[in-house]
Amino acid sequence: MVDGARCRGCGRCTHLCKRDAFAMELRQPRIVKNALRRIDNGLTELMK
Ligand code: SF4
Repeated sequence: MVDGARCRGCGRCTHLCKRDAFAMELRQPRIVKNALRRIDNGLTELMK
């Protein structure tokens, strides 16, 4: 059980649950998203 008054939601404890009952969705940083988009666009061009 997590003490909601103390938890900061950092997600560092998510690996501790053996039943996968705790998960955290992380947002992709914009720089990563843009890099992946450029790679995807490059691959699309190569496949033409
Ligand atoms: S490790 Fe992070 S998410 Fe887990 S209980 Fe502590 S503050 Fe909350």
